[in-house]
Amino acid sequence: MTAYIILIVVVAVLLLGVGGTVLLRPRGMHGVRRGRARELDLTGSMPRVDDGSSATTGTATATAPPEQRQAEQRQAPPEPPEQRQVPPRPTLEKPPPSAGRMIRLRARLARSQSGFGSALLALLSRDRLDDDTWDEIEEVLITADVGVTPARQITSDLRTKVKVEGTRSTDEVREMLRTELLAQVETSASRALRTQRHEGRPAVVLVVGVNGTGKTTTCGKLARSLVGDGQTVVLGAADTFRAAAADQLQTWGERVGAEVVRSDKDGADPASVAFDAVSVGVEQEADVVLIDTAGRLHTKNDLMDELGKVKRVIEKRTAVDEVLLVLDATTGQNGLRQARVFAEVVDVTGIVLTKLDGTAKGGIVIAVQRELGVPVKLVGLGEGPDDLAPFDPAAFVDAILGG
Ligand code: GDP
Ligand code: GDP
Ligand code: MG
Repeated sequence: MTAYIILIVVVAVLLLGVGGTVLLRPRGMHGVRRGRARELDLTGSMPRVDDGSSATTGTATATAPPEQRQAEQRQAPPEPPEQRQVPPRPTLEKPPPSAGRMIRLRARLARSQSGFGSALLALLSRDRLDDDTWDEIEEVLITADVGVTPARQITSDLRTKVKVEGTRSTDEVREMLRTELLAQVETSASRALRTQRHEGRPAVVLVVGVNGTGKTTTCGKLARSLVGDGQTVVLGAADTFRAAAADQLQTWGERVGAEVVRSDKDGADPASVAFDAVSVGVEQEADVVLIDTAGRLHTKNDLMDELGKVKRVIEKRTAVDEVLLVLDATTGQNGLRQARVFAEVVDVTGIVLTKLDGTAKGGIVIAVQRELGVPVKLVGLGEGPDDLAPFDPAAFVDAILGG
């Protein structure tokens, strides 16, 4: 134990001695605008303990052992008085990890989706399954936004199975339907979000979609969930069209200690904000940078120009690892049309389906995956801060079947 303490003191003194800043770099500072980020750059040659020794900023100091803190205080040059006046740090929330969220939110999903599941179960449990009944089954699937082609296929698969297996118990019907729906929802593509640092760089996630689908909310919820999983996150407010969007993102960031990079002026170049956010992420050795974008769908060309440019400019600094397309599940076919346009403009790597709590049309999961050939990676199941879950096909199908 004593040896351990001595070791820590020696390491701390050594690090400070060479002006090393790795341990003491301020991570997770709040509300840093681009201006502030630049300021950090300029002071790069000064010992970072300046920031770290202030109790209201760097997190490294607060968690360092007492010996290390004393060593810092000895070595730290006196702070200019104005730097002491840091606004009080908001109380940080400790969000729950992402694992098992869909199971926890299953009741909510079951509430919205079980209408469609129980209608199918009731129809399939009829004594006589005549043509009319099969038409009704297909109709229920289409109404749930599964899409015409998949609805036909599911119906014909079920029809074949019933013919082969003959009379069925309620449990057998349920199991048959479960297997069929699962086969339709599952894809060979991985649903894992690429949010791990790699090659010494943060993972970069670009969040795109039409206005009102839930992009900003998703960025905020995702930042929380990543923080809950122990990652450090930088948020980039590249929706510079509305100042409120940056404020909204900042509120999310502040609650969990994720730095928000935004422009000081309205209507700034979104590509420039995205570039700055990624730069801050690289400098701060963050795990993930999440970039929120504007969703104006004036004309496809505007969108293509703006999103293309944002991506291209980020790529001057580092690779974009994920492009998440946010779709509002309540918009049905309209949402699918949007998806098509976005997929033409950027290489979408995953779909976030929001507002699944507000619609019985969960079949859109099947339709959109088929349409884009990209998996649903996350689902939004409410407006609450932790109502975002990694998509879990089995939990989803069980919720449809009211299980
Ligand atoms: P182009 O407009 O398609 O030619 O793309 P550019 O590569 O010229 O970049 C356009 C915009 O992206 C610039 O006006 C900046 O706002 C932003 N940008 C590009 N590179 C940088 C950079 O190194 N730093 C910052 N802050 N912004 C950049
Ligand atoms: P943006 O314009 O795409 O950035 O959309 P916002 O993030 O501002 O969200 C628009 C509205 O949708 C807000 O009122 C959100 O609270 C709401 N919203 C987002 N995700 C969900 C969800 O999963 N369920 C529900 N019920 N509402 C959501
Ligand atoms: Mg927004």
